[in-house]
Amino acid sequence: MTTHLVWFRNDLRINDNLALAAACRDPGARVVGLFIATPEQWRQHDMSPRQAQFLHSHLDALQASLAERGIELCIRQVPDFAASVECLVQFCENENIDALFYNYQYELNERQRDLTVERGLGKKVICQGFDDSVLLPPGSVTTGNHEMYKVFTPFSKAFIKRLREGLPECVVAPRPRGEALSVMPVEPFDYPCVEIDSSLFPIGERAAIAKLREFCQHPAADYPEQRDFPAIEGTSRLSPYLALGVLSPRQCLHRLLKEHPQVLDGGSGSVWLNELIWREFYRHLLVAYPKLCRHQPFILWTDNVRWQQDEALLDAWQQGKTGYPIVDAAMRQLNTTGWMHNRLRMVVASFLVKDLLIDWRAGERYFMSQLIDGDLAANNGGWQWAASTGTDAAPYFRIFNPTTQGERFDAKGAFIRQWLPELGDVPDKYVHTPWLWADKEQLPLDYPRPIVEHKQARIATLAAYEAARKSE
Ligand code: FAD
Repeated sequence: MTTHLVWFRNDLRINDNLALAAACRDPGARVVGLFIATPEQWRQHDMSPRQAQFLHSHLDALQASLAERGIELCIRQVPDFAASVECLVQFCENENIDALFYNYQYELNERQRDLTVERGLGKKVICQGFDDSVLLPPGSVTTGNHEMYKVFTPFSKAFIKRLREGLPECVVAPRPRGEALSVMPVEPFDYPCVEIDSSLFPIGERAAIAKLREFCQHPAADYPEQRDFPAIEGTSRLSPYLALGVLSPRQCLHRLLKEHPQVLDGGSGSVWLNELIWREFYRHLLVAYPKLCRHQPFILWTDNVRWQQDEALLDAWQQGKTGYPIVDAAMRQLNTTGWMHNRLRMVVASFLVKDLLIDWRAGERYFMSQLIDGDLAANNGGWQWAASTGTDAAPYFRIFNPTTQGERFDAKGAFIRQWLPELGDVPDKYVHTPWLWADKEQLPLDYPRPIVEHKQARIATLAAYEAARKSE
């Protein structure tokens, strides 16, 4: 009997899992799963304790779903990637594995690890990788010169054209392959974990699919009008599931098409599809430009910007104590839930880089250390966009005004008041400028005054970017 091994990584699901489906195709083969936790590696890459907990809970759920189908999921814990290679090679030897199935991860270290594994296994084990975490494989949507697009809109148009020519199909969950197995709870990781609000992010594939269905049935149609207002639940909040592969982008696409059949022709639902394509864009960029994985800027001259080294300012931003209510409310949402609304990710990133003139990589790292949906491609893409260092990024002279952003997207301060109870008594008119109210009323306020003055900070930032550009 041949034995097939599925090496699970960021694909913690049984539905529409290309590697798992391929491993189960031969009804006569014995199929085993393996997940290798690498806490030392996670520490180096600032994986957040909430994401670690989400991962742990989903491993439990995956192990149970596989066991119901008679497939054992083995879980090992080793420090880092080097040890994970040894662990995998040894596992293949001990279990007489004939073929290894896995879904690609596109980050540089992960790709190098996979190459080492393939080399280590030699000809003894057949290895098959799959482009599972994307709708279309990186490198398959290119310009006429066969190069990766550097601008999103033409990429998106070409992407949709490709989808119209042929949709990537979903594969079904494997059928039971024997008696159900009994399982033990997954051992704790040697890594800090933090409880997750399960009303925000319920555990399990079934819950993720239900969330997707619900979103596609109603809010997806209102998404263009609602998605920028953080007080409204106008976005899907599916990012933690997509980041760990509890849900696949193909499942998202097919569910969207079912509820909004005109989505590929620009009809209802197409704005949400565009967000899924942003996710693809950043993944495809990572493969075309591996330097992004090393946190190098796409636009080289931006590395000459003289950033401020100011721990106190960085700390105030991290703690949500900048004195700008929309920034602080957003940071407290992040620190408390592990998630932040997209509009606010742009606002707080712009504030750190362009008001405090702090290196975007400090923000990128801090986000990873807090986000439940931390994802190198999307996070790096988002930060390089906000810092104007990336491809198709906001131009460097476009600087969000944190007060007017608050006024536009949280006019009455409903979101601000949710996260900053100390501003509960401040009238709507002053909720974005509470210091003016405190001065006018001669009242003490348990909330900081702005740590920088936006207009002056803007001038200093423009000068710093211009100096860097000239030194090119
Ligand atoms: P929806 O609006 O419902 O979008 C659906 C899905 O599309 C998301 O779940 C996500 O997978 C994808 N998506 C949406 N917008 C983007 C985008 N701009 N770039 C890439 N993918 C997108 N997203 C992450 O998943 N992980 C991160 O670590 C991350 N870091 C970010 C950092 C910054 C500075 C910025 C500006 C954006 C970042 N994003 C990140 C993108 C975006 O903010 C989140 O994907 C989104 O807020 C998740 O909420 P949602 O699931 O409700 O999104």
